[in-house]
Amino acid sequence: MEARLLRYYPGRGIRLVKGYMQYVWDDRGKRYLDAHTGHGAAFLGHSNPAIVDRVKRQLGELVVCSLSFDCYAREEAVRALSRIAPSHLDSVAFANTGSEAVETALKMAWAYTGRRALVAFRGSFHGRTLAALSATWNPRYKAGFPVLGDVVFLEYNGDPGEVERGIKRLEGRLAAVIVEPVLGEGGVVPARRDFMRAVADAASDAGALLIIDEVQTGLGRTGRLWAHEYYGVEPDILVVGKALGGGIPVSAVLARGEVAASLEGGRHGSTHAGNPVAMAAVSAAVDVILGDDVPAKAAAAGSLLKSALESELDGARLVREVRGLGLMIGVDVRRDPTPILKCMQDRGVLALRAGVSVVRLLPPYMVTPSDVEVAASAVEACIPS
Ligand code: PMP
Repeated sequence: MEARLLRYYPGRGIRLVKGYMQYVWDDRGKRYLDAHTGHGAAFLGHSNPAIVDRVKRQLGELVVCSLSFDCYAREEAVRALSRIAPSHLDSVAFANTGSEAVETALKMAWAYTGRRALVAFRGSFHGRTLAALSATWNPRYKAGFPVLGDVVFLEYNGDPGEVERGIKRLEGRLAAVIVEPVLGEGGVVPARRDFMRAVADAASDAGALLIIDEVQTGLGRTGRLWAHEYYGVEPDILVVGKALGGGIPVSAVLARGEVAASLEGGRHGSTHAGNPVAMAAVSAAVDVILGDDVPAKAAAAGSLLKSALESELDGARLVREVRGLGLMIGVDVRRDPTPILKCMQDRGVLALRAGVSVVRLLPPYMVTPSDVEVAASAVEACIPS
């Protein structure tokens, strides 16, 4: 008997057989503009030739190399990441998924501070493994699981004074504050500047680490290499995933040296972390990000897409707001977006939901002005008037 696939997400009813840059094709030959991108993983395009070539070469050279051994692919990836890492974050740990990288970041914070409490925010999403899940807001995802009890949730974009008081109350036992610069799964909500500044200042005053989760926002998606650059704050630990390997599963934690060192000496490990094929993908992805000026292209395409949506949806009764940063855009539609997503798919545009009422668009950076028109008119045509 053939095993039943545990899909976890609701099925979308199409079988994808091919992808190239911003497009995917189904088994009937129908082409889609992909603004779903596997939850944002294909931000650098499907089968981007620069990444495919480098990965293919690595497959013929060396596929497995434990962290106990050195290998060129990993050395190259560390050098590549150093080109894009904030300069004060001089250490890197690799992992395989966003959740695993968040888990690693939290372990670093606990190990380094010797404290247990965490602050996270309402609406946050940090992953499905148990520590990452504990710092995730959605109670539906946590129901029935043994999540950690010492996570305090404060209001995202809350009043700066409230945020400061909430963090100060935990002084002496707070290990870290973890925050997304733009809530992704939580509804595509960019942080306000005064909120983000208050979070960073209060964390530092409380002697706690600031973990910025850029699994979704990082690598140029929001129009800057790192979304936290918009806010003038400096993370102690930065978490990166999704597009980091151009679609190959790989994630990373960038940290200040003394913080990162707290997990050394046998306190952490992961069989596939730093896998040479994933490392080759990282090096190639960084070459694309810097060589193709990805943040600037995402900023330009994102502002086109946002204005196209705003003008197409002007006066639409169901639309509460079009918001986002760069190529991370949400259309808040005051209702379950599922039928809208289905209708867009029928019209050849893939997108995904965020929160309870948001149509989220996460297209690859190379979308053209005509792709933007196609996406905006599909959204307009699919929102009931
Ligand atoms: N953090 C953020 C901000 C995310 O958006 C996600 C994934 N949506 C994760 C962590 C978890 O990543 P993964 O699904 O790769 O474990």
